[in-house]
Amino acid sequence: MSMKSKPRQLLAAFLLGALVPSLFLHFGQKANLSLPEITQPTESVNISDDLPQSTQIHVQLADGSIVPMELESYVTGVVLGEMPADFEVEALKAQAVVARTYTLKRREEGIRHPMGAVCVDPGCCQAYKSPETYLAEGGTDTGLSKIRSAVEDTAGQVLTYQGALIEATYFSCSGGRTEDAAAVWGGEVPYLQSVDSPGEEHASKYTAEVFFDRQTLEERLGIELHSGPESWIRGITYTEGGGVAALTIGGCRFTGVELRRLLELNSTAFSVTLKPDGIVLTTWGHGHRVGMSQYGADAMALAGNSFAQILLYYYQGTRIDKTDALG
Ligand SMILES: [Zn+2]
Repeated sequence: MSMKSKPRQLLAAFLLGALVPSLFLHFGQKANLSLPEITQPTESVNISDDLPQSTQIHVQLADGSIVPMELESYVTGVVLGEMPADFEVEALKAQAVVARTYTLKRREEGIRHPMGAVCVDPGCCQAYKSPETYLAEGGTDTGLSKIRSAVEDTAGQVLTYQGALIEATYFSCSGGRTEDAAAVWGGEVPYLQSVDSPGEEHASKYTAEVFFDRQTLEERLGIELHSGPESWIRGITYTEGGGVAALTIGGCRFTGVELRRLLELNSTAFSVTLKPDGIVLTTWGHGHRVGMSQYGADAMALAGNSFAQILLYYYQGTRIDKTDALG
């Protein structure tokens, strides 16, 4: 598999940003093509009572209510909500295994929501879209049956590491390389390590530029800026995955994760370009960039990789198990 060696140019560009003293690099190219956006969740679900405990999970809806659902039915709704049906079949299967693993991990852990539930907010847990809503919003029968098949073909399959369910985090687009879990959440996770993720260039949020003037930066970051933009930013450090680890702006130190939240950036992977009246931040990728890239999974599938190869690439050192084997 050539996945590990192809995107060295982009990684080199990231690392160049870490090494060049001027700090201010502009990587230039914009993606012109775009695939469908990752869609938002809905409130519509199928409520199923009296399910066997092993296949029942709880879903917290947008109104806060919690309903039981059959696992595979819910996973179908997550794939419908999280990944366009025109993605490659093997990418859809990978998404199904990841969604199933993520869901059962939340149930096992039981602390994020009452009853070990997963919610329908993609910013917290996972998007969800019922088949009815999918069709009502213009989805096709072909797309629905394609996703149902992807879920059925992987039914009961989950990712484990040393016999335990993994934290199967995923996101839309990495911008060329994924991030270590430690760089984003602070804790080292052996199977959530930075890997190259080529072939995402057509994603609509592969790269983006946002301009910030002095006033906006001062308000959003709670800082005071003096002189011109060339004096504002100092000491950028980078992560293994090409994200900004930290930088000093206006004399205050911020992590890349903090800046992403405060400035509402697509990702922590960004470069800085000086302008006369402010700065442009050019971001790469969309999401926390830890775990499986959805657009990267599609690219791997298009290149002929199976869902298992995709999963074992993004979550290295893990294995695919059946949920039954976990007890
Ligand atoms: Zn949640």
